[in-house]
Amino acid sequence: MATFIVLLGPPGAGKGTQAELLAENTKLAHISSGDLFRENLKNQTELGKLAKSYMDKGELVPDDVTINMIRDRLTRPDCEAGAILDGFPRTPTQADALEKMLSEFGSRVALVPYITASETVLVDRISGRWTCRAQGHIYHQIFSKPKQPGICDLDGSELYQRDDDKAETVTKRIRVYVDQTMPLIEYYRKVGKIIEVDGMQAVEKVTNILLSALKK
Ligand code: ADP
Ligand code: ADP
Repeated sequence: MATFIVLLGPPGAGKGTQAELLAENTKLAHISSGDLFRENLKNQTELGKLAKSYMDKGELVPDDVTINMIRDRLTRPDCEAGAILDGFPRTPTQADALEKMLSEFGSRVALVPYITASETVLVDRISGRWTCRAQGHIYHQIFSKPKQPGICDLDGSELYQRDDDKAETVTKRIRVYVDQTMPLIEYYRKVGKIIEVDGMQAVEKVTNILLSALKK
């Protein structure tokens, strides 16, 4: 059966960073809902334009369009062995929809690592985050510098600061997380899927903890 992992945690906890590393170390695809919205934005699709109006305010994009976008993504061939979901689901409605979609493929969520960090750390991480224009690779101006300033090590594209990573939007996003996404911790805890991981440790340490949890 294909393996589906959901990474939960507040913005800045390290979900994207870890998802990328886990995908490199496994046969699983990395699905980032935020990256998919940003790709649509870059390509100026209708979905991108709609998503931008919510993203700029730090609010969630409506469930129906988000769910449809993920459904499309999950049917691509690279998800055959499974995927690491980063940023989806973010509401109980999305979690229910995911369960339905996966059961159509004869599968289900295997594990939900919940990555934690204090609010001060989250704000420091998000305000120093630099994202690669081409593929969304993630850097930090202090904690995870590229070899050449402003250039992605992996694909040579430009690094930029996301509009929604500016200070005004960050606290709003953390509030939205607390109100709309935190209920998912209980949702997955009830079915015994949650493992809590301290996201304030070094990147490699978190990756090792996640990889050993995945092996079990
Ligand atoms: P999320 O996807 O949960 O929003 P990211 O993976 O994008 O989080 O990480 C947010 C920022 O923090 C990035 O700039 C990233 O380089 C940095 N970062 C991620 N994990 C760590 C860590 N364990 N220690 C220090 N910085 C980290
Ligand atoms: P972070 O991990 O730093 O919170 P993301 O890249 O996951 O950032 O998300 C950026 C924005 O994209 C969110 O603030 C929201 O507007 C939108 N978004 C991403 N994933 C979802 C989702 N599952 N449901 C609704 N909106 C989403």
